[in-house]
Formats: sequence, structure tokens, C-alpha cells
Amino acid sequence: MKSSNRLEGMAIRFDIVTIFPDFFTGIFEHGIGRRAIQAGQAEIFRHDLRRFAHDRHRTVDDRPFGGGEGMVLKPEPLAEAVESLGVLPKAERDPERQTVILLSAQGRKFTQAVARELAQTGQVVLLCGRYEGVDERVNELLADRELSIGDYVLSGGELGAAVIIDATIRLIPGVLGNEASSEFESFGLSDQALERPREDAKQSPPRSTCGAGGLLDYPHYTRPAEFRGVTVPEVLSGGNHEQIRRWRRERALEKTLRNRPDLLWQAELTDADRKFLRGLEPRLGRAEEEDSV
Ligand code: SAM
Repeated sequence: MKSSNRLEGMAIRFDIVTIFPDFFTGIFEHGIGRRAIQAGQAEIFRHDLRRFAHDRHRTVDDRPFGGGEGMVLKPEPLAEAVESLGVLPKAERDPERQTVILLSAQGRKFTQAVARELAQTGQVVLLCGRYEGVDERVNELLADRELSIGDYVLSGGELGAAVIIDATIRLIPGVLGNEASSEFESFGLSDQALERPREDAKQSPPRSTCGAGGLLDYPHYTRPAEFRGVTVPEVLSGGNHEQIRRWRRERALEKTLRNRPDLLWQAELTDADRKFLRGLEPRLGRAEEEDSV
């Protein structure tokens, strides 16, 4: 894994620029986010965009050039907000140390790979749009990238910023109690990429756990062994780690093919995986035909 661009032991700093700073009250006061903040691994600052507007009404939006519905966030307050955060001008910025993100439905999709990258960055500034969006010059002159959290239109960038922060915080080295859990989950790395040196072996998960290698996670079960007539698959209580590992891999392949076949193009597949998938496709096709009848 790439080494961090943060100075050793320093917290990752998130700066959120928004017209609704109170939106974030409480969001990071639970679970892993709260623990990371308390442990000094992450800092989150909210900045009210209206503080950077200079007229009597603290205006941050205006009508769109060319006509049309709604209002657009003006570039000057956003530029002043970013500059107040000690962020270098875009041309001089090292985006691996400091990065400015514009939340936008038109952006590239935020993925686990992007979260992994951000978790190695020193400062992440998140600009939340509202109304019809943000003057495009903010994107050109201030932002390193436009990110979308999915193919739908939200009323503002605040939920997107919260999603990005949450997904990133849990990937900061040391934040999760068990370091391995972020690796052995959906969109995680492959077994080969996770190969650890022997001295690490005690902290490693049992051989029954398999790296996702870009697939969705396998199904999980806990007690009771039987719930409303549905029993836990027998293989999971058999104690044979190799069988469990294979079973989990096959269920992950099955679920990915069913729910997110697009991920299979990029996934790290073995010959055994491919053979299993080839056997699955006709069955899956039949099941879908039956579902649609
Ligand atoms: N006119 C814009 C469009 O059609 O792409 C939508 C503007 S939206 C109502 C207002 C703000 O919400 C955007 O500027 C952006 O910051 C945020 N937003 C909306 N959808 C988003 C998404 N899928 N991901 C991230 N941010 C989003």
C-alpha cells in the first residue's frame, strides 16, 4: 500500500464549506468517526459560506447567466473560503497533501478506491453546492476534482461530504480496531495484495476469510444457528478453513454477478473464479427469466 502523505501521527483534516454548517451537528459523534476524532486521527471543521459574503444580506447566490430556473452559488465567497483555509493555489498545490473537492452530480463517482486515496491525504476540503449548483469557475480554478456520490440528484452537497468523510475516516490507518476489516470487505483488496509478512501473521484474519479483490462482500451469519426456519450454511460450522474460504469466495462471486456485474470487469479473478462464474451464468439467466414472468 502507498505510504501516507500526512506527517507521521498527524490527523487528517477535513474542512467542509457549506451554507448549512449545522447540518453536520451530531453526524460524527457516533461510532468510528467519534473514536477517530477523539483519538486525534481526524479533525473536522465546518465553515459557513455566508461568512465570506460581504454585502449586508450575506448573499452567496445569484441568477444564472443565460436564464433558466433557480440560483447558482457565486464564485467569490467560495474562493475566499478556500483561501482562508491555508490551501495553496491550484497550480502550486500537491493534491496528495491538500485536495479540494467539489460535490457535484456531474462529478466522477466516489468509490472505495478514492476513499483509500483520500485517507492518505493531509487536508481534504469539501465544497457543498446548493440550488442549481455552483458557478463552473469554482471547478476550473479551485477544485482538484468533482465527485458525485451516486447517480441521483441531492438538494445539496452536505450529504455527499458526510458520506465521503465517513468512508475515508474508517480507512485511516489505525482507526478500525481490527486493521484487517477494511481490507476484507466489499471493494477490498485481493488475497495476493493482502499477503502479509510472517511476523504479522498473528494479527491476520484466519485463512477462512478471503480478500474481496474488487468484489462485493460474502454473506455473514451469527447466532442463532437457526432463525425462523432458515439455518446457517453447514460449511461455516465445519471448521475447515479452506472450505469456508472457497464457499465465501463463491458467494461473493455469485452476489457480485447478480447485483453488480459491472464490478467483475475490474475484479481480480483466479482461474477457479472464472470457471465458477461460467457455471453460474446460465443458472442466473434462468432465475432472472423466472423472476420476470
Ligand atoms: N443542477 C445540478 C445538476 O443537474 O447536476 C444539480 C444541483 S443539486 C440540486 C445542488 C447541489 O447538490 C450540487 O451543486 C451538489 O453540490 C450537490 N449534489 C447533488 N447531487 C449530488 C450527487 N449525486 N453527489 C454529490 N453531490 C451532489
